[in-house]
Amino acid sequence: MRLLTHNMLQCHARGCTTRNYPLRFEEVRLDTEEKTEVNPDFIMGMLPKLDWAALRTTAMQLGMTELPEQAPDTTMDEATIHALHAILLDTRVMEGKMVCDGCGHVYRIKDGVANMLLTEHEV
Ligand SMILES: [Zn+2]
Repeated sequence: MRLLTHNMLQCHARGCTTRNYPLRFEEVRLDTEEKTEVNPDFIMGMLPKLDWAALRTTAMQLGMTELPEQAPDTTMDEATIHALHAILLDTRVMEGKMVCDGCGHVYRIKDGVANMLLTEHEV
């Protein structure tokens, strides 16, 4: 699962409406080997759709400290574009958990795919 996807996910368990975003990673195994082509237009286009604070918090939890505190604007430099690309698209969470700070629900990630399904009593 890419961090771009993670940035769009929140806990959807019944009654969980506070502190349900972003989901916190635990015990993750990352794959950063596969490098995809950097597309500055795509990165610029994603910028307004991102929750910057959540992205930055998540990146820091995973040991990536390159992101500035304030979201960059469309004048961002080449280095920032590459850093964002590496974090959003070339970092894949292969195994681990995403934990909701609101209700404690654990979403498991296996073979790079997050299981967002809830059991019947959680829906
Ligand atoms: Zn929750």
